[in-house]
Amino acid sequence: MPIHLSTSQPDFDARFTEMLSMKREDASDVNDAVAAIISQVRAQGDEALIELTARFDRMELTADRLAFSKEEMAAEIARVSPEDRAALTMAANRIRAYHVRQMPEDVSWTDPEGATLGWRWTPVSAAGLYVPGGQASYPSSVLMNAIPARVAGVERLIICVPTPGGVVNPLVLLAAELAGVDEVYRIGGAQAIAAMAYGTATIRPVDKITGPGNAYVAAAKRHVFGRVGIDMIAGPSEVLVIADGAQNPEWLALDLLAQAEHDADAQSILITPDAALARAVEAEVERLLPILPRAEVAGASWRDYGTIIVTRDLDEAAALSDRIAPEHLELCVDDPEALAAKTHHAGAIFLGAWTPEAVGDYVSGPNHVLPTARSARFSSGLSALDFLKRTTLARLTPAALRDIGPAAVRLAASEGLSAHGLSVSARIDALNGDPS
Ligand code: NAD
Repeated sequence: MPIHLSTSQPDFDARFTEMLSMKREDASDVNDAVAAIISQVRAQGDEALIELTARFDRMELTADRLAFSKEEMAAEIARVSPEDRAALTMAANRIRAYHVRQMPEDVSWTDPEGATLGWRWTPVSAAGLYVPGGQASYPSSVLMNAIPARVAGVERLIICVPTPGGVVNPLVLLAAELAGVDEVYRIGGAQAIAAMAYGTATIRPVDKITGPGNAYVAAAKRHVFGRVGIDMIAGPSEVLVIADGAQNPEWLALDLLAQAEHDADAQSILITPDAALARAVEAEVERLLPILPRAEVAGASWRDYGTIIVTRDLDEAAALSDRIAPEHLELCVDDPEALAAKTHHAGAIFLGAWTPEAVGDYVSGPNHVLPTARSARFSSGLSALDFLKRTTLARLTPAALRDIGPAAVRLAASEGLSAHGLSVSARIDALNGDPS
């Protein structure tokens, strides 16, 4: 039974706050296990990767088989059907076209004092992408992580993907090829994150690690942050659908179920001012759930975290959306642009009845790696910018230094940093012809 709320209930605010603060992540503490794995990889390198892969992924490797060879890649990729190849290629092309437009310009200008200022963007040299593979495999995640890195100009791009029992989804390898990945390693979990951060004899370290994974992967990313950059720590996925009374209840139910089938901890929320539509959507969810192959997962998510909120109007719905700050926001209303303008915190917005969130998971173009657990209040989804660094630039003329330098000398003195002040005043003295 999903959670039912209505803004006309006297205790709505308390119940809404309670819904917002529900903890959906598995609280099991994996930090000690992850710290031990990372230490083992740092101490023993490839040998640790081989031992841990045998233990967790039931696979006997040797150092020279940690990476897929070109021949192995080609043999696996040859198994992909032409239809799957065409779909993945279309997705790759659309994702690339979208991310190319994110590339920022270098900026430079000269101010009235004569200082030429600006910034320039440069890519990280090497990036490592984690592709989860323990229980399922995600070719779309390969595209969503690797393409922005390539667009940003990252020189060396590597992937780690566990292949339990030696089994790999050939679409994952095709996605790696389409995205221009340089090296693919068949390792997973915390040991893969450690290898990418610290390096081993076989795997050279990278500068930034991105990509989702289970609790071990997330804890390992937290652990190596600082040694390398990371994208984010993604929690369970969520969708908020705001709908007016004119929508098709079956479509809305499918959108809610599409989110719920990801994970038993996923959350699907419907907000509508139309109580009759809310009832119809709930009935459709109940009708459709049993026929889904992932009914057990989707049912658990819907039962534990599914939420239906009836509001007085769409403005109230938009205000609640901002408090939720959803990862995915679907606006199935007559004028979605107008409603979107009233919301300020969402990872990705899907406008109108013809834009189901699932197209965004695969082919619309924007990235599907998005901020979860209300972090859309302060962060954004993965983009080409995540693989770029901004370096500031300043060049002063003698006249500019004479003009603005004395203020620096004063501020340096106030901070008690005499060499700072002298490094400026020595130059100004030279300009003024002071022989000392
Ligand atoms: P995974 O690749 O993340 O994890 C598999 C690895 O976990 C194994 O290789 C092993 O090294 C390690 N591991 C397993 N049990 C362990 C133990 N007891 N001790 C130490 N290490 C252990 O694959 P998964 O488990 O299938 O999880 C994938 C996760 O990624 C899911 O939670 C899924 O929801 C998430 N995901 C998120 C997105 C997103 O965009 N947010 C996309 C795809 C997948």
